[in-house]
Formats: sequence, structure tokens, C-alpha cells
Amino acid sequence: MGVQRIGLLTSGGDAPGMNAAVRAVVRTAFVNGIEVLGIRRGYNGLIHGDVFEMEHKTVNGLTGRGGTILYTARSPEFATDEGVQRAAKTCKFLGIDAIICVGGDGTFRGARDLSKYNIPAVGIPATIDNDIACTNYTIGFDTACNTAIDAIDKLRDTMQSHERCSLVEVMGRNAGHLAAYVGIAVGANVILVPERPYDFHNDVIEKMRRSRIHGHNHFIVIVAEGVAEKEGDSHQIARNIADEIGLDVRVTILGHIQRGGQPNARDRVTASRMGRHAVEILRDGKINRVIGIQDGVLQDFDIDEALLMEKDLQETMYDTARILSLS
Ligand code: ATP
Repeated sequence: MGVQRIGLLTSGGDAPGMNAAVRAVVRTAFVNGIEVLGIRRGYNGLIHGDVFEMEHKTVNGLTGRGGTILYTARSPEFATDEGVQRAAKTCKFLGIDAIICVGGDGTFRGARDLSKYNIPAVGIPATIDNDIACTNYTIGFDTACNTAIDAIDKLRDTMQSHERCSLVEVMGRNAGHLAAYVGIAVGANVILVPERPYDFHNDVIEKMRRSRIHGHNHFIVIVAEGVAEKEGDSHQIARNIADEIGLDVRVTILGHIQRGGQPNARDRVTASRMGRHAVEILRDGKINRVIGIQDGVLQDFDIDEALLMEKDLQETMYDTARILSLS
């Protein structure tokens, strides 16, 4: 007998488009005669049996809604073997044959642990960090880029008028994909990412000096969260820059605004395709997979292999940012 009842959860940091994935899972399951139990608050809900039946009408109008109707949480309890065993027991008690989990790599590690207790899982990558190696794009990344770009375009107007330097911190503790994409899109003078060490004088001050000589009267510096934390915080980096260039440096930390808002077209469509694919592979007997999208084509990978894959910044992206910011 194939899968009859799926448990569906969202976990880790929320990302725009998670709801579209939830809707796609529920609708595809419905078409295939599979029941879906929505699990609230990620693995917390799985441990404590906080579930509800989802029907195709429960997910009406969800493609465009930000956040996640299933709520999300980080569950330290689930990161222990006891927690995983409790969750597996809940699944067995509730008749859940398989889990579909929407989240980042921590979420997939949890799913892999659960699969060791015979609860198969499929992971759908959703995080604004875009740091999942088996996929070119994670759900939420594109919307987050656009949100940051919109904010920085507005900042640029005022920085230009006052001839100031704007230092903008974007999310990304370990990954600089968001910083690199946003930096290219707004024409930043400097982009600092966790994956690439930088020399303060050569890569920051010298660049700004050259821009100044070429007539620039304002600057945009994009700093990924992980870089800021390493230096203390973004305000410290701003003070270091101000000491050297003699311009007013204003700090803006975009923070959680990057996670919110309506998902854009790409995230809605990617989430819908991935949600459908997740259910169909479970229906067809494939288990313990992570969905990815590569060159526009949907794929799925063994969960262990997916977790071992590493994703670096695309070198061409980083080079493009460097070349274009020489001005
Ligand atoms: P984001 O990239 O947005 O942070 P994420 O899925 O990586 O998303 P995490 O907080 O790392 O977010 O993980 C979500 C949940 O997955 C954790 O709260 C925990 O319950 C579970 N989890 C994380 N790491 C592990 C692990 N090594 N083993 C078991 N479960 C884990």
C-alpha cells in the first residue's frame, strides 16, 4: 500500500512562498486521494501532536500570502534523539506514513533523523538564504532579494541628496547569496560576504577612493549579517569606514522585513512546482528525498547526499559584482 496520509510542516526561518508550497502539497495530495495532516510549529508540533486535517479548501487563496499558515519554530527538543523518537511515535499513533517538510538544511537534518525511525520524508527547500546546495533557487530567495532592492533604492535617493555613505546589512549568517545578488542589482560599491575574506583597505577603502575620484558623491556598501557579526556589528564597520573617508556613514539593518511580504511570481511558481513534485514522488514510492530545481528542471536527491553537497557563491556572480563596482 502506498502513502495514504502525509504530515506537512514548515520549519526553520520563514520564507515568502512557504504557503504556496503548502497549498500545492494539499491540492496534489487531494487529487491523488492522499490525506494531509497539517503540523503546527514545525517539529515542535510533531513531537506534541499539534495537527489538523487539511482539505483542499483549507488552502484557498494561499499562493500570494507571505509567512506560513502552519507557523514555524525552531525545536531544540527535536535536535535530540529522544525528541526524534517522540516525534516518530506521534507519527505512528496518528497514522502518518510520510512527512513533507518545508525549510532549510536544519529542517532536512531533522527529516533525515526521523527517517531512521521509519518515517520517510521529502524536503522542500525554502529559505531566503538560498544556501541549499542541491537547488539553484530556494523558495523565498527571489522575493527577499526584491524586498531588499526596493529598500536600498529608496535609501540611495536620500544618500545621494546628502552625499553620504549607506551601509546596509542584509540577512545571511553563513551565506552571501542574498548580499551578492542584491549588491549587483543595486550597483553597490562594496559587497562583503561571509564566504570571501576581504582586506579592509584594498577591498573597501581603496574602492571607495577610486569611486570618489571618478566623481561619486555617495556610496552603497552591502554587508551580509555574518560579516557584521564577525567584526562586532555593522555600526563598527561603519565607524571604521567613516574614520577613513570623512563622509557620514549611515547604517540600515534590513532585518526581518526581508522575510515578509507577498511572494513574487518566481517564488509562487517554484513553490507550487516543488509542492506538487514532493507529493508525486512519495505517491510513486520514492522516499527520503530533497527537491531541487536546476536550470529550470525539477529534480530530487537522496537526503543524505543533498546534506553532503556544498554550495559556494557562484564565482561569476561574485566577479560580476567586483568588476562592475570598480566604476
Ligand atoms: P533556515 O535556513 O531558514 O535557518 P533551517 O531549516 O536551516 O532554516 P534550523 O533552525 O537550522 O533552520 O532547523 C530547523 C529545525 O530543524 C530545528 O529547530 C530542529 O528542530 C531541527 N534540526 C536542526 N538541525 C538538526 C539536526 N542536526 N538534527 C535534528 N534536527 C535538527
